Amino acid sequence: MLMTGQAYRDSIRDDRNVWMNGERVKDVTTHPAFKPIVDARARIYDMAHEAPFREAMAYREGAESFPVSYKLPFTQDDWNAKRRWVDTVLRELGGVVIRVGDETVGEMWSLWDGKDVLNEVDPAWSKNIEGHIQRVLKNDIFHVSANTDPKGDRSKRPQDQDPDMLLHVVKETDAGIVVRGAKYETAAAYAHQAFVKPTIANWGDEKLSDYALGFICPMNASGLKHICRTGFAGRAPIADYPIANRFDEVDTLLVFDDVLVPWENVLFYRHTRAASFIRGTLHRYSAFPFVLRILYIADMLIGVALFNCRQTGLDKQQAVREKLAELACYREGINAHLTAAIATGQKSPNGLLMPNQSLLYTGRVHACTKLPAMVHLARELCGGQICVTPDSATFADPEIKAWLDKYYHVNEFWAAEDRRRLLAFARDLINSDNAGHKVTFELFAQSPPFAHLNAVYMNFDFQPALNFVKKAAGLSDRVLEQK
Ligand SMILES: Cc1cc2nc3c(=O)[nH]c(=O)nc-3n(C[C@H](O)[C@H](O)[C@H](O)COP(=O)(O)OP(=O)(O)OC[C@H]3O[C@@H](n4cnc5c(N)ncnc54)[C@H](O)[C@@H]3O)c2cc1C
Repeated sequence: MLMTGQAYRDSIRDDRNVWMNGERVKDVTTHPAFKPIVDARARIYDMAHEAPFREAMAYREGAESFPVSYKLPFTQDDWNAKRRWVDTVLRELGGVVIRVGDETVGEMWSLWDGKDVLNEVDPAWSKNIEGHIQRVLKNDIFHVSANTDPKGDRSKRPQDQDPDMLLHVVKETDAGIVVRGAKYETAAAYAHQAFVKPTIANWGDEKLSDYALGFICPMNASGLKHICRTGFAGRAPIADYPIANRFDEVDTLLVFDDVLVPWENVLFYRHTRAASFIRGTLHRYSAFPFVLRILYIADMLIGVALFNCRQTGLDKQQAVREKLAELACYREGINAHLTAAIATGQKSPNGLLMPNQSLLYTGRVHACTKLPAMVHLARELCGGQICVTPDSATFADPEIKAWLDKYYHVNEFWAAEDRRRLLAFARDLINSDNAGHKVTFELFAQSPPFAHLNAVYMNFDFQPALNFVKKAAGLSDRVLEQK
């Protein structure tokens, strides 16, 4: 059952409680800050029905088709198909969208891998997660992720401050549990549902058990408020901010004001071991599509830098070539990690194929930590004109146009309008409010850097290095016994 763009638009006109700029948003599909990204998501839905894209976007099982992006990964081919899906979508849209469902769905597969942990307390929970994985796949549901609470003062336990600083259970009823708290969540205001789960904390402490819960929540649930940051789309003409106006993935503070979660949506509850498990394995699959998006950001940085250098003939200089080569090394470093992670994929406890965890997590650190430096390198290669060039209205003004045509015309290949467009695109990629936001997104959206490094520490196999040094340094066997 593949959804269409129109069915998606209709499905999110559901009286959800969305706020932005101090106003209630009546319809996210038409509001200027949301419309472009809703249109992008709708386009992705429609692509699966269109002949040029159908094969990359969907697979058949019996008489029905399902999205490749949500298919459970059992083989390398499944992962290569997911990579093709992302490539097809981003090329068709002409830009990078990240949180459109495929990048968060894998968090549910991680929990499914913890079936044994869930069964320790209540076998109904592993049935619930299996059911939800199938529901998302079968109904082509736009599924996002809610992990991060406002958290408040971290030196205090939640019980010793406003207890709502971490989302928690307030009541148990026959119909389900009632929860209270808040989460930060990209794309929530125009998605169908979220997998809500605990944030990073010391889940070994039983006193936190009211907070150790995971569940699926529809984004129009009663008591849910989407309080969104201001949008980047619609603030200035698209000709001047072509990325912000098309691909702003609006983030939300999602407030749960006594929201009822029916039992069939509860994935675990008062279970600190399940909370630890999901925190330890959350990005086992979803780090792959997340890091893959950074590859395309790297391509955009390379493209704008090289076009700028070619225009001015600077790409003939060795020192400039070295900088372009640095961008290429960054890009290929990401590519190598992703390719190798699939080529050396590992079987998960539940029989899925996980990307090689050590290569995936080290790739995520490579991609995320070097991104600011690479953005800065591209900024340097573009030159100062990205931040001093007048806007499109000035370029079109009859009194001024001739001057700008004169000074922005470079050679027979680059007329003033193309140079203006490239500089506007580069500015929105590298310098604008939207550009800064995207760098912050890559820093935090899949947990902060210390959690990325912890994932490397927990998944890298240190033993071969110890064995190698033990032999090379002539150490006794005893040294390997210390844990
Ligand atoms: C653009 C954007 C989109 C986001 N989208 C989502 C989303 O869709 N879903 C979601 O759940 N969350 C989302 N987030 C939230 C994101 O996961 C959090 O910002 C992130 O987990 C960091 O939490 P925090 O902001 O509360 O920072 P804090 O926890 O306050 O941490 C700030 C800094 O303190 C230091 N620090 C804190 N704790 C430790 C520690 N234990 N060890 C070492 N250093 C530490 C680190 O330097 C850390 O970066 C998004 C964030 C951004 C910026």
